[in-house]
Amino acid sequence: MTTTPISAVRGMNDVLPEAGEAWDFLERTVLRCLRQYGYRPIRMPLVERTELFVRSIGEVTDIVEKEMYTFTDRLNGDSLTLRPEGTASCVRAALEHNLLYAGPQRLYYLGPMFRHERPQKGRYRQFHQVGVEALGFSGPDIDAEVIIMCARMWRALGLSDVSLELNTLGDPQARARYRARLVAYLERHCNALDEDSKRRLHANPLRVLDSKNPAMQEIVERAPRMADDLDEPSLAHFEAVQAALRRAQVGFTINPRLVRGLDYYNRTVFEWLTGKLGAQAAVCAGGRYDGLVEHLGGKPAPACGFAMGVERLIALLEAERVTIPTRVPDCYVVHQGDAAADFAWQVCERLREQTLSVILHCGGGSFKTQLRKADASGARYAIVIGEDEARAAKVGLKPLREAAAQMLVDVDEVADLVVGVRRLSGAHDGSR
Ligand code: ATP
Ligand code: MG
Repeated sequence: MTTTPISAVRGMNDVLPEAGEAWDFLERTVLRCLRQYGYRPIRMPLVERTELFVRSIGEVTDIVEKEMYTFTDRLNGDSLTLRPEGTASCVRAALEHNLLYAGPQRLYYLGPMFRHERPQKGRYRQFHQVGVEALGFSGPDIDAEVIIMCARMWRALGLSDVSLELNTLGDPQARARYRARLVAYLERHCNALDEDSKRRLHANPLRVLDSKNPAMQEIVERAPRMADDLDEPSLAHFEAVQAALRRAQVGFTINPRLVRGLDYYNRTVFEWLTGKLGAQAAVCAGGRYDGLVEHLGGKPAPACGFAMGVERLIALLEAERVTIPTRVPDCYVVHQGDAAADFAWQVCERLREQTLSVILHCGGGSFKTQLRKADASGARYAIVIGEDEARAAKVGLKPLREAAAQMLVDVDEVADLVVGVRRLSGAHDGSR
C-alpha cells in the first residue's frame, strides 16, 4: 500500500516550535497589557449561524460576498459559517447572556478567523486575531483607552514601526449626507469604476473608498471628504479623543479616507500601519460601532473595539529583529540504572513542585549521550543520578553554561542554587 503524505490546506499554516516561541511571547505580552487595563476574557465558538455575519458585517462586503467558509449542517440544513471575525460573535454572546445588564463590559478574545482570500504574505485563509470589544461605553475616553492600550502593547512587544491613522465617520445622519454626495460623485465617474465598485456604488458606496485596486486610487483620492458633513457632537467627540491621545503622547495622523463601509460603524475609526510588511500594512484596525448591539437585536448600547492580526505582528517582530525571550529548562535530569530511574522521577517532581522547569531524560543511553541531550536542551544545569547518588539520596549538580565542577548536593538544595543563579544572570523574562 502506498501512502502519500497529506499536506495542510492552502492558506492555513502550522506554527512550528521555534515560531511558537514568538507566538507565546506575543500572546502573553498582549494579554498582560489587556489585564492591566481591566479587560476580561471571553471565548466564542468558531462556528456561528451564517445569518449573524450577514446581518452584522453586511451583504455587500468582501467578507460576506466571497470570503466566508459557509456550509450546511448535514442534519438540520442550517447554514453555518466559520467565523471570519470576532466582533459579531462577541456581541451575540454578550446579548445572549445579558452581560450588559451588569453594566459596561471590557472584553477580549483571541483565536483563529477564517476568510477565503487569495493567500499571500500576511494574508491567509486561517489567521489569528486578538480582538477587544468595550461594550456599553459612549464617551471618547474609551476610544482613547483602546488606542493608548495598543500603543502600550507595541512598546511592550518592542515594536517601533507602527503608526496610527485616525478618522471620524460622524453620526448616521452625517453619513447619509456624505453618502449622497459620494454617490453623486461616483456616478459622475461611473465609467472609470471597476466591477466591484460599480456593484457597491449604491449598496455600499463607502466601501468603494476602501478599494485596493491601484486603478481606482485616483478616483478615491479625489472623492469628496466627509469633513463638511460631520455633526457637531461627533466633531467634539473626535476632538476629545485626539486631546486624550496628545496627553498620552500617542502620535497620529488624520486620514480622511479611512472608512468602514458598514452602516453601524460611526465616529472614531483607526488603523495601525507598518511600513515594513509591504502591501499587508495594517496590523490592527478598529473603531466605534454604536449601532451594532441594536442591529443584532439588543437594547441599544454604544461600543468600541479593535482587532489585531497576529500573523502580521509576528512578521513585524521578525522584520524589526526583536529578540524573543526563549524559555530554557532549568535542569535536565540524566540517570542510569533502575534505582536511579526511580529516584530521578522523585527528584523531578520535587523540583517542579518548587516551580523549576525540569526535563527528565527518557529513552536510556550512556551518561555521555544523555549529557549531550542535556546540553542541546539549553538547560542551565544537568542533574546527574547514578546508583551511588540514588543510594545516598543526593544528586550531582553540573553547571552546563559555565566551566565549574559537578557538585554533590541534597535535592532540597537544588532549587536555591538554580534559582539564585537564575536571578543573578537575569536569564528569564520573569513571566512565569
Ligand atoms: P485588509 O484590508 O488587510 O484586508 P481587513 O480590513 O479585512 O484587512 P479587519 O477585518 O479590520 O481587516 O481585521 C483586522 C486585522 O486582521 C487586519 O488589520 C489584519 O491585521 C488582520 N487580517 C485581516 N485579514 C487577514 C488575513 N486574511 N490574513 C492575515 N491577517 C488578516
Ligand atoms: Mg480584508
